[in-house]
Amino acid sequence: MTRNEELFSRARKTIPGGVNSPVRAFRSVGGAPRFFARGEGSRVWDADGKAYLDYVGSWGPLILGHADPDTVAAVQRVAALGLTFGAPTEAEVELAELLVARVPSMDMVRLVSSGTEATMSAIRLARGFTGRDAIVKFEGCYHGHGDSLLVKAGSGLLTFGNPSSAGVPADLAQHTLVLDYNDAQGLADAFAKHGNTIACVIVEPVAGNMNLIAPKPEFLAAMRDLCTQYGAVLIFDEVMTGFRVGPGSAQGLYGIVPDLSTFGKVVGGGMPLGAFGGRREIMEQIAPLGPVYQAGTLSGNPLSVAAGLVTLKKIAAPGFYELLTARTKSLVDGLSAAAKKRAVKFSAQSVGGMFGVYFAATPPTSYAEVMASDKDAFNRFFHAMLDAGVYLAPSAFEAGFVSAAHTDADIAATVAAADAIFAAG
Ligand SMILES: *Cc1c(COP(=O)(O)O)cnc(C)c1O
Repeated sequence: MTRNEELFSRARKTIPGGVNSPVRAFRSVGGAPRFFARGEGSRVWDADGKAYLDYVGSWGPLILGHADPDTVAAVQRVAALGLTFGAPTEAEVELAELLVARVPSMDMVRLVSSGTEATMSAIRLARGFTGRDAIVKFEGCYHGHGDSLLVKAGSGLLTFGNPSSAGVPADLAQHTLVLDYNDAQGLADAFAKHGNTIACVIVEPVAGNMNLIAPKPEFLAAMRDLCTQYGAVLIFDEVMTGFRVGPGSAQGLYGIVPDLSTFGKVVGGGMPLGAFGGRREIMEQIAPLGPVYQAGTLSGNPLSVAAGLVTLKKIAAPGFYELLTARTKSLVDGLSAAAKKRAVKFSAQSVGGMFGVYFAATPPTSYAEVMASDKDAFNRFFHAMLDAGVYLAPSAFEAGFVSAAHTDADIAATVAAADAIFAAG
């Protein structure tokens, strides 16, 4: 047994499935998850001492790579001054000011401790602001594990949803309408039928939780117009895309102004932090100013705020996103070229510092197309890359991430590993 396997069997005795978040368990790809002991820059080392080039980056937060020295130093400095106060601090005001300055659609922002908290708070706020209950989401988008969001499509077209998890009341799921991503007409039809009861539309402006699906520009534009027309709140869930796809996040990239936005991952620089914010008149509905309750003992935690501040400052360096985008593109172009040379049915694409690889002839544009990709081929590729020292997300339905610590040599080594795997068949 490897040390990883030993730890996994030990973990399963006290932690359900041996993991504290389900996708970590390698259920989709099979085998024992790697337990990590250490990370530095673009690399991680597992419990057996094996090194990997990491394209997961803790699922997105680590845009500066592992153990970024400036981030670590800031967290250590702040930790020595007290871990938490449950009272305001100057640094959280600075972080809020920075976020509001970087995201023009946000007049005000509130800090929370996770992406899930940000999205569920934004949904409650949209409901409180509009006085309506119904929400619209898109199949394959993930917005954290709030009850209203763990919902799958109902049986009929334009009918309300059913719980996708045990423990979610059907009564609650009935307020969630689940539509197809990138289907502007479907959204228009839903508004025509239910428009006056819809509190909000929540969307991943680049979908990154069903592998990567790029938005059709007309889909996002139609969403903005319909929300305005019917008085619904448009929520861009930028927990993954925020400061990942560009300096203005996805809303800057596509030129769409949402009413509310949610952030997580990159904004916490690897520490637990989320944020939601938007138009002043909406944000003023939150307690203590307004009637929508929202709170958190560790919200705006000093360590998380310190890590977030360092990260937001470092990613503002001139040329940061040009380089990150170019590196990520050179990875997907290299992988695509290697596959083409060996006639492997494969495609890949990137948006800023996130990417998708697909065992399909062309990048998918919908949930149905993603589901039709060759999952077994991905799983074989995943394990072969793992053996070769490249750590990809352990599922065919997750996006990948490149950090500023990934070098051209790292990308070349990754492409070479894939080339050898494709060549072997
Ligand atoms: C990761 C993610 C979340 C949930 O964030 P957590 O910090 O895991 O709770 C919500 N929305 C999107 C788009 C995400 O990628």
